[in-house]
Amino acid sequence: MDKIDAGLRAEAVLADIAGSGEIWRPSFTSEYMAAKDKVRELMAQAGLRTHEDAVGNLYGVLKGESECTVLTGSHLDTVRNGGKYDGACGIVLPVLALEELVAEGFRPKKTVAVIAMYEEEGSRFPSSYLSSRFITGKITDTELEERDKNGISIREAMQAYGYDPADYKSAKLDHISAFFELHVEQGPRLYNCGADIGVVESIVGLYSYELTLTGKQNHAGTTPMNMRLDPVLEACRIIDGVDSFVRAETPSAVVTAGGIRSVPGLSNVIAQEAFFTLDFRSGSQAALDAIDGCIRRRLKDSEAKGFAVKLTVKCAEPPCRMDSGIAAAVQAAADAAGLKSLRMDSGAGHDSQIIAASFPTGMVFIPSVDGVSHSPKEYTRPKDLKNGIKTVKQLILRLAGEAK
Ligand SMILES: [Zn+2]
Repeated sequence: MDKIDAGLRAEAVLADIAGSGEIWRPSFTSEYMAAKDKVRELMAQAGLRTHEDAVGNLYGVLKGESECTVLTGSHLDTVRNGGKYDGACGIVLPVLALEELVAEGFRPKKTVAVIAMYEEEGSRFPSSYLSSRFITGKITDTELEERDKNGISIREAMQAYGYDPADYKSAKLDHISAFFELHVEQGPRLYNCGADIGVVESIVGLYSYELTLTGKQNHAGTTPMNMRLDPVLEACRIIDGVDSFVRAETPSAVVTAGGIRSVPGLSNVIAQEAFFTLDFRSGSQAALDAIDGCIRRRLKDSEAKGFAVKLTVKCAEPPCRMDSGIAAAVQAAADAAGLKSLRMDSGAGHDSQIIAASFPTGMVFIPSVDGVSHSPKEYTRPKDLKNGIKTVKQLILRLAGEAK
């Protein structure tokens, strides 16, 4: 099969998995199971032996001389009204890469396995990364009781499709020498700079704060400007101040004030209360600490002006470093495939950040056109899919080795 065909074929396979109409594959639904059936068929066609574990992770395995395994894969669930590429690429491209390797007579020294995971997106249940937490043994009994919007628990959802949640501990993996996840970037960097492959060095840490400022509610017409304690204005100043700080002091970080409202929220009343959120992310813990310091200093200033302030930390996830050896292997694989690569951080969360705590882990990014993701407009060109396959082939050769 020539190289252009590999990209077009991958595109056709991804389109087939997506089906027609809105793309939405919450875990343990008929949409999800239908997609999994298609992946199972693809794995079998590629010459991989397929099986599922007790909790419904699907594996396609190419047995090597040793039980020691190089694992790759991604998630098959999607957000509502999502795209064809997020998650599915990280399953389909490695399967197609293995199919080519098998056809070329490759026999691996280590076993190579592709896993199709679920519930990475929090597509159905409140918390995410379910599969990756199962395979790394980070799930507890109580977490299986977590419920979806209709009151169905994870345990019940699994049982409805014949899986055995009572045996969830058997899903924990051993003998994994390396894990890597190919994923679309979901951002614009590779596409904008014309690079083919992203070598991920870390997955950014995510901090999310909720802030409330309480001032003095009063009449918008009769209260002179110098007698106001307006929490909306103060919130705007804090947001602007933190934004300026990030641009000047921690330019690799991003900050977003996405949720903002006031009480009572009327055009003719100086508000009593302003509520806003600050979501900030960076691959550097030092940058996250600096932004946290900036926010807290600003709040102190607000207090000194007479505002009552409240800060609630909703989330403070540190950055997750990828294994430097695997990052080097990804770089070498892209070089060997004659592709232009870029070292970068991932701005989005991935199963890899869970798995990295248990096994040496790395990520391979391919470009997203215009950086669009979590949207039906998500698009990755066939030539980039082909480059993903080429890189994965080289990476498997490096990480698994060839049998003598
Ligand atoms: Zn994803």
